[in-house]
Amino acid sequence: MGIVFFGAPGSGKGTQADMLAAGIGFKKVSLGDILREEAKTGSQLGREVKQYMDKGELAPDSIVSRVIEANLNCNNFILDGYPRNRSQAEELEKILQRKNFSMDLFIYLEISQKTAVNRLSKRRVCQDCRSNYHLDNMPPQEEGVCDHCRAGLFQRDDDYPEVIKKRWGIFLENSREIFQYYKDKGVFAAINGEKEKEEILRELKQRLKSLKA
Ligand code: AMP
Repeated sequence: MGIVFFGAPGSGKGTQADMLAAGIGFKKVSLGDILREEAKTGSQLGREVKQYMDKGELAPDSIVSRVIEANLNCNNFILDGYPRNRSQAEELEKILQRKNFSMDLFIYLEISQKTAVNRLSKRRVCQDCRSNYHLDNMPPQEEGVCDHCRAGLFQRDDDYPEVIKKRWGIFLENSREIFQYYKDKGVFAAINGEKEKEEILRELKQRLKSLKA
């Protein structure tokens, strides 16, 4: 079974994908995380994608589809951050066909632009274990230090206000088409991403249950 998480930057799709994957034993594949790791290595691919990431733009479809194909190797998967537009959705369908995998649920985590800006501009990420913090709602016990592994926290280059605005614009531009695509396939589900994260997780599990029933 395959699940896709979709939402504006800051919608909490990474957090929910992590919690759900741990709860149901699925493999989470986060394209953003994979690309950030690649950028850190300084490889040719990493340098190329970093240019787009720093500006808040999407990397070319031809690159990301190769990355997804190489990393999608378990039939019970949760995809976070891919596909993000209709052409990627079509490409994903071809990849799944080649692997004989299925995609059963497309979850849209819905939040307002105001919430997105608030969450992202105050987000801090551990440079080692990638744990996420929020300066007001979920601050680390010690300023600038990860509670879990004691490594330093940083602000993502694409979490500054100007870049956030651009990422929001790209999200809006692509969402209508991709929603229609998955509505036509009968796998679209919208969930209110403004709620408490435990409540969202409960709702997600309910959806999965009714899918299996
Ligand atoms: P995220 O962590 O999901 O917000 O992604 C961070 C950045 O990685 C994005 O702003 C893009 O530059 C790149 N990226 C992530 N997912 C995709 C995708 N599906 N297509 C193209 N670029 C992507």
